[in-house]
Amino acid sequence: MTTPQGNGFVNSKPIIGITCGHTFEGSGRFYVNEPYVRCIEAAGGLPFIIPGLKSAADLDGLLDYIDGLLLPGGVDVAPIHFDEEPIPALGDVNPVWDELELYAARAALHLDLPILGICRGAQLLNVAAGGTLYQDIDSQIPGPLYQHTQKAPNWYPSHSLSVEEGTLLAEIFGSGDVRVNSFHHQSIKEPARGFEATARSSDGIIEAVESRMNSFVLGVQWHPEHMVGYYPRQMKLFTSFIDAAMQRKGRCKAVGTGSTAESC
Ligand code: MN
Repeated sequence: MTTPQGNGFVNSKPIIGITCGHTFEGSGRFYVNEPYVRCIEAAGGLPFIIPGLKSAADLDGLLDYIDGLLLPGGVDVAPIHFDEEPIPALGDVNPVWDELELYAARAALHLDLPILGICRGAQLLNVAAGGTLYQDIDSQIPGPLYQHTQKAPNWYPSHSLSVEEGTLLAEIFGSGDVRVNSFHHQSIKEPARGFEATARSSDGIIEAVESRMNSFVLGVQWHPEHMVGYYPRQMKLFTSFIDAAMQRKGRCKAVGTGSTAESC
C-alpha cells in the first residue's frame, strides 16, 4: 500500500469502502444512500465510495486502501448466483451491481476485512460465500409470515427478532429480543459454509448471519441506518464495525510498509 508522503496527509480514521448502487436509468448512474455515509462518519470511519468497474479485478487496487467494507441495501440478488432460475415474484436485478459486490465481498472475505452487510448486503454476502436465498419469501415459504415489507415509517421497529447467545451480534446487542424495521422480500435460505444464522424473527426468517471464520463479518436483514436517530442501540452495529476496522488498520500498520494484502 502506498502512503502519500510529504503533503501533510494524515489519516487516523479507518477507511470504509461502500459499494455503489447502480441503475440503468438514463445513461446509467451510481449512487449511495446518504444515511450509510452518515452512520459511518458518526461512528468514526471515513467513507470511500466504490463504483462497479468494467474490469472487476481492478477493484483489488482499491480494496488495498480500505479497512472495512459496507455492503448496503438495494435491489434483488440475481438467482443465477445461487444456481436457481428466476421465479415470477423476483424483483429488479442489476448485473453491474451484483458483479461489483460479489467480487468485493469475496476479496474482503479472503483478506479478512471487516464486513457489514445490510439488507441486500447481508443476502449478497451470504451468496458471495456460497449460501442461498429465498427469491421471494411470501411465495416460497409456507405462511403465515409477518409483514417484512413494512408500510410504517422507515425508522419504525415493526417486527421482533431473537438474537442467538454467544454470537458477534449478541456481543453488540445482547442476546434476546430486539425490534427492527423491515424492508425485504428476499431472505437468506441456507447460510454459507462457515456462516451461521444469528437472529431470526419468530416466523422463521433469518434476520442476521455472521461468519465463524472471520474476525468481523456480519449481515443484518434490517436497516439500522434508518433507526439510529430513534434507537441509539442500533448505532452499536456501526461503532463495533468501525472498531473492528480500526483494529485491523492497527494490525496492518504494525506489519509495516510493503506488507502485502495477504499479510494484513
Ligand atoms: Mn424482516
